[in-house]
Amino acid sequence: MKYCTTCGKELADNAVSCPNCGYVFSGGSVVGVNDKPSFGIALLGFLFPLIGLILYVVWKPTTPLRAKSAGKGALTAIIMGIILGILSGIISALGAGYYGY
Ligand SMILES: [Zn+2]
Repeated sequence: MKYCTTCGKELADNAVSCPNCGYVFSGGSVVGVNDKPSFGIALLGFLFPLIGLILYVVWKPTTPLRAKSAGKGALTAIIMGIILGILSGIISALGAGYYGY
C-alpha cells in the first residue's frame, strides 16, 4: 500500500496516478501512460456503452482520468436511452389515448 504524495490518499501499489487529486507519479510501474480526459474515448463510450463500461473498469486503477471519460460517455448514453425510452412510452400512451377508440 502506498499513499499519494500530494493529498495523502491511500492508493493501490500499481497506481500511477491519484484518483483523488489526479497527481501523476513519476517512476510508476507503467511508463508512458497518457492519463487525461479524452473526448474521443468519451464518444466511444457513448456510441458503445458496454465497451465504455468495460474500459472504465479496466483503466480505473492505472488511468482514472481516461477511465472517467469512458465511463461518462457510457453513462450519458445509458441515461439518454432511459429518457428516450420513457418519452417514447409517454408518446405511445398519448397516441393510444387519441386513437384508441
Ligand atoms: Zn492525491
